[in-house]
Amino acid sequence: MSDRLPGFSTLAVHAGAQPDPTTGARATPIYQTTSFVFNDADHAASLFGLQSFGNIYTRIGNPTNAVLEERVAALEGGTAALAVASGHAAQVVVMQQLLQPGDEFIAARKLYGGSINQFSHSFKSFGWNVVWADPDDIASFERAVTPRTKAIFIESIANPGGSITDIEAVSTVARKAGVPLIVDNTLASPYLIRPIDHGADIVVHSLTKFLGGHGNSIGGVIVDAGTFDWSKDNRYPMLSEPRPEYHGIKLHETFGNFAFAIACRVLGLRDLGPALSPFNAFLILTGIETLPLRMQRHCDNAKAIAEFLSGHPAVSSVSYAGLSSDKYNQLARKYSPKGAGAVFTFSLKGGYDAGVSLVSNLKLFSHLANVGDTRSLVIHPASTTHSQLDDAAKVKSGAGPDVVRLSIGIEDKEDLIADLEQALSA
Ligand SMILES: *Cc1c(COP(=O)(O)O)cnc(C)c1O
Repeated sequence: MSDRLPGFSTLAVHAGAQPDPTTGARATPIYQTTSFVFNDADHAASLFGLQSFGNIYTRIGNPTNAVLEERVAALEGGTAALAVASGHAAQVVVMQQLLQPGDEFIAARKLYGGSINQFSHSFKSFGWNVVWADPDDIASFERAVTPRTKAIFIESIANPGGSITDIEAVSTVARKAGVPLIVDNTLASPYLIRPIDHGADIVVHSLTKFLGGHGNSIGGVIVDAGTFDWSKDNRYPMLSEPRPEYHGIKLHETFGNFAFAIACRVLGLRDLGPALSPFNAFLILTGIETLPLRMQRHCDNAKAIAEFLSGHPAVSSVSYAGLSSDKYNQLARKYSPKGAGAVFTFSLKGGYDAGVSLVSNLKLFSHLANVGDTRSLVIHPASTTHSQLDDAAKVKSGAGPDVVRLSIGIEDKEDLIADLEQALSA
């Protein structure tokens, strides 16, 4: 072996995994077990007291999930990661470590529709208050900061319009406010953008999308960049104060630059309970092995389709940051030079009715509420994912009545274009 650091594609196949020490199995086995036998009573006590690391119970950790965690941490350039049952579970677990009732966090207004719901309603019932900012106006984040602000949340490539966020500019605001920057990197995946390289302190993913990549498993992950000082000012008591259930240890003092990932596991996952099934972890790991190949194909197909749609007479506009005419193209060149992702929107001259009719006439595209599948997908956000918003908020979040969202798969682009062509002329 040379001392070269492995490249991204090598990490996607190998990081975290080794042949199974007992059987020699080369693929990571599915450890389909709830619990693990202790060596002896002292071993059990040290695991429970966080004096040593090891397997106890699959709600808190599992060897298949551990390979997935190590792999995603390596791909994102973080110190540690925690796999959970869904992207939404990742968001709850992260916020539980950061916010006390009455606290606030600032979130970009352009977000996955489910996140807008989760932040506006469920989080409110925990006393966690979202304050919205405009990702195209960095000063709006600065203006939103108050003494109760505990975090800033953005998407790297934002749903549904595929716009690119200026991560470094938002990170500067977060640093100044003394709060961590959380980046939802679902639509980019670490193949396109590694938010930690641009100042993110925490990265979250829905593994359900491009990382798993095959539309067969729900999962989520939290990546700790190891960059944030949790003990400064006592603003993050979950991390800086003694934990009564762990003999009074202070997580940040004890675990240093992976304390946040530990807190998410031993407080969040332990108490809230959204554990990822090892079977899903296996499927997602298998998906990640081909992430670089799939993601490049997703992006190349998406660009060809965005170009086709831009020239079509029934289309009034295409919002794809990979087009040189797009207002996010400069940011795409800086943050996502290999391609601008595969999820984007376009608007139809025929408005709401044309959108509804297009989704019913497409044959190869599946009409459903997901993104990041090998298959191409379509949805009309105004009547589905963003239907809970009022008309003004729909337009502000990029989901106006005439907007159709595509998630471009890895099929032959000529077949996808032919399907769009027939549906647009129907
Ligand atoms: C799907 C998605 C989520 C939520 O993930 P689930 O796995 O469905 O819980 C969060 N953020 C983005 C950008 C998503 O696409």
